[in-house]
Amino acid sequence: MQIESSRPLQLLNTFGIAVNASHYVAVHDAARLPSLLTSGASELQRILVLGGGSNVLFTEDFNGLVLHMVNKGIDVLSEDDDVMIVRVAAGEVWDDFVTWSTDRSLYGIENLVAIPGSVGAAPVQNIGAYGMELSDTLQEVEVVMLEDGSRHNFSNSMCQFGYRTSLFKNELKGQVVITSVTFRLRKRGTLNLSYKGVEEVLHQRHLHHPNPADVADAIRHIRDTKLPDPKRTGNAGSFFKNPVVSAEDHRQLMALHPGLPSYPQSDGTVKVAAGWLIEHAGLKGFRMGNASVHDRQALVLVNTGNATGTEVVTLANHIIKTVWITYGIRLEPEVNIL
Ligand SMILES: Cc1cc2nc3c(=O)[nH]c(=O)nc-3n(C[C@H](O)[C@H](O)[C@H](O)COP(=O)(O)OP(=O)(O)OC[C@H]3O[C@@H](n4cnc5c(N)ncnc54)[C@H](O)[C@@H]3O)c2cc1C
Repeated sequence: MQIESSRPLQLLNTFGIAVNASHYVAVHDAARLPSLLTSGASELQRILVLGGGSNVLFTEDFNGLVLHMVNKGIDVLSEDDDVMIVRVAAGEVWDDFVTWSTDRSLYGIENLVAIPGSVGAAPVQNIGAYGMELSDTLQEVEVVMLEDGSRHNFSNSMCQFGYRTSLFKNELKGQVVITSVTFRLRKRGTLNLSYKGVEEVLHQRHLHHPNPADVADAIRHIRDTKLPDPKRTGNAGSFFKNPVVSAEDHRQLMALHPGLPSYPQSDGTVKVAAGWLIEHAGLKGFRMGNASVHDRQALVLVNTGNATGTEVVTLANHIIKTVWITYGIRLEPEVNIL
């Protein structure tokens, strides 16, 4: 593996922020990571593991080593009449793996179609969409520790998954490279069509007995109409997490804002729609410098052209302050700010 110096990162982050890494290496073979980490790389003080760059915001050049995971491979480890156990290399494109799965009529990740990024990053924030989360099908995560190159396996329960969070975003943040993820996909199952719009699209397409591929196509269609394409407009999807409030706070909020979309959680708390809060605070389409709130989806911040990461952070801070003043709710970024 060849470590390069001074590597531009603009094409390696979906916000399209023009920064450089002082050192960069593309990891095609995860088996060579331990020797890399115990040799020259350890002299570099900071290491950033990068996948598709769709959940990061660079505010400055990265002074350290970027480990870009591009290792490939999808291996069926075992199967029976009901399930297939599949190990996927971290550098596989997540959406390609969803297509691999739906092409084989497997159930479990079809609603997670069209989420940008790599398989290796998916457990970090426990990606979720349309009523499904990665943790529903993930069996095991294989990692290499950055500190000493040792290998470890984490079962699903060890990963401490929660809403857009995991062990890898908390205690082990910045300490591991996820090298592969193993999934437990089902050969039969129930489709989750609960999310707004999915059944309508299937109905319009006369798909009365849909399979996982039909559902994935429908969701891809809905997402294409709602979200800006990072290839044309720099963004990192939802910039903020949907806040979770207590039942009492929720009652008070609803008295003042009856239209607020709300999702009760199993522990009695209620998740509320951050996009609605931003839009109804009058910030949809709001622009500061070269960064703006997207005009169709207020949860997405976009680079309107040559934005710096600092401009996006300034806009994000303005949104956090305005939402706090308007509703007494503190928004938290979902995107990793570097
Ligand atoms: C248009 C758009 C729509 C999106 N929609 C959704 C959505 O519906 N649901 C959702 O959950 N997310 C969504 N996202 C966010 C993003 O796609 C996911 O978080 C995705 O998993 C990030 O993958 P990545 O490879 O691009 O990660 P990166 O941005 O490269 O990295 C993200 C974080 O993970 C770490 N990381 C990356 N790879 C590894 C690895 N192999 N080992 C250890 N750490 C690693 C990085 O250091 C960083 O902290 C969206 C983003 C965009 C641009």
